[in-house]
Amino acid sequence: MRIGIGYDSHRLAEGRRLIIGGVDIPFEKGLLGHSDGDVLCHAVIDALIGALGAGDIGKHFPDTDQRWKDASSMLLLRPVLELVHASGYSVAWVDSVVIAERPRLFPHIDSMKAAFEAAGIPSSRINIKAKTNEGMGFAGRGEGIAAQAVCLLEEITAH
Ligand code: MG
Repeated sequence: MRIGIGYDSHRLAEGRRLIIGGVDIPFEKGLLGHSDGDVLCHAVIDALIGALGAGDIGKHFPDTDQRWKDASSMLLLRPVLELVHASGYSVAWVDSVVIAERPRLFPHIDSMKAAFEAAGIPSSRINIKAKTNEGMGFAGRGEGIAAQAVCLLEEITAH
């Protein structure tokens, strides 16, 4: 088995769509980033890459690469899952938390899980939690949104 941890944060800015966990969430601001700024997807990707001992998301998807400009981060998840499988592992479990003061994310969690399932992580193998930061720090002040993820990879054994 392998475990991995991922963390990400992005600044909230006007004139951007808010995409978290592959879901377009109605809000007056969105996350700034080279891609769509999907903080949860990035944290999950970093957890998976970490479990493989394969560096980090920036190594695999450099923000100098125009291919990923405004790209849906869920499109980045697919090749990472291919790498997981090519390395002889499957995703046993992902747990994650998104830290955002606003908007309220709880109503969107099932849609996020469906988006991860469409990208290749079954919804029975991922948990997503939404927390505020009780008004403290950058997330609490609404300057940005952060996400954390852990994953467990299981070695695929031939029977
Ligand atoms: Mg990011």
